Amino acid sequence: MTKKQILIVVLAFVCVVAAFATTLFVTMVNNKKEEEKAARATAQSELQPLEPTEQKPKEYDYHVCIETGHGIDAQGKWDTGCTWNGYEEAKLMIPITQAMSDYLTAHNVDVYTDAFSENDRNLDVTLDYLDTHEEIDAFVNVHCDYGNAASGTMPLYNTDEQKKLAECLNQAVHEAIDIPDRGLQYRTDLETLCNPKVHCTSCLFETGSISSDNEILTNQAKAYGEALAKGLLNYLNQQHTAQ
Ligand SMILES: [Zn+2]
Repeated sequence: MTKKQILIVVLAFVCVVAAFATTLFVTMVNNKKEEEKAARATAQSELQPLEPTEQKPKEYDYHVCIETGHGIDAQGKWDTGCTWNGYEEAKLMIPITQAMSDYLTAHNVDVYTDAFSENDRNLDVTLDYLDTHEEIDAFVNVHCDYGNAASGTMPLYNTDEQKKLAECLNQAVHEAIDIPDRGLQYRTDLETLCNPKVHCTSCLFETGSISSDNEILTNQAKAYGEALAKGLLNYLNQQHTAQ
């Protein structure tokens, strides 16, 4: 072989070795990357379990139902309740039941109400709900009295237990609101008090006269609703500690 031929052979050999080394290096780098990727995936799957942990249902102290008087009648039409000077009982009671529900919700009570849906629920729907939800501890139906009625509060009850709730509600209202007290009234003709679907303690609370107490019902709705909420909590806490 000539010198030139030897040089070509040496060069070819060097090229083959370089190509082999390059391939080997690239393969090693790729393998390393794959290993790192697999390690990251494992670490991530350890952090985030595939099965999401089940969320525990919130535990409330009590479950109550707050009904805004009237709203929708049995035929699905708007039911104003009593009216005076452009005021409708069904609308006038909404800010009161809203404040009552807000206060209760803030104090770990589960509230089922029509206060935030424009008083859109007929009493029959609520009665069916109460019949199928035995966890409800109390039911308060909030009304006001007609224009010619005397000024003042008048909670209505039928049973002894309902009378205790009526007393608690009335007392809390008179601690917060300057309004006459017409006393508790025994009634036998009201669904809220006497329907067999109502298994919990209930009360129909007449907040005042739509005419002579209108200013209180309008301007002190928040304080009134919160007072009713405090009265209801007092009743529930008494029952709870008595058990
Ligand atoms: Zn009414």
